[in-house]
Amino acid sequence: MEISDGKVVSIDYTLQNDGGEVLDTSDGRDPLSYIHGIGALIPGLESELAGKSAGDELDVTIPPENAYGVRHEELVAVVKRSQFDNNEDLEVGMQFQVQQDTGTRIFTIKKIEGEDVTLDGNHPLADMTLHFSVKVLEVRDATKEELEHGHVH
Ligand code: ZN
Repeated sequence: MEISDGKVVSIDYTLQNDGGEVLDTSDGRDPLSYIHGIGALIPGLESELAGKSAGDELDVTIPPENAYGVRHEELVAVVKRSQFDNNEDLEVGMQFQVQQDTGTRIFTIKKIEGEDVTLDGNHPLADMTLHFSVKVLEVRDATKEELEHGHVH
């Protein structure tokens, strides 16, 4: 069975950056299962997987535009510590969700200097060319319920 829209696909994968550093992997964990064609994966990886079958292995390089996008410097902002609830506990690396017109965006604290807190709303993998090694383990039809829910059961 070939991967196409509405199939449930299970893959093993390893994600590396340009420097060969492993950013994420299913090695030692359960495989990743997703419904193909509903935007569950980054666009570049979905398009590479289309038409593949169980047992296929692929190495793909995906530019930022087809991965997590390019950085937008306007998503970096400096705000005052006093604008946060529980502002005693702020630490670099903390993440929180902010509701915006375009949906929910995750901001990460990049820097804290006195009262100034620097926030970055870019995806941590923005601007990165990603290298995926993928092995397709299983391809099956999604159930009606899975398609309705938008996730794998
Ligand atoms: Zn469900």
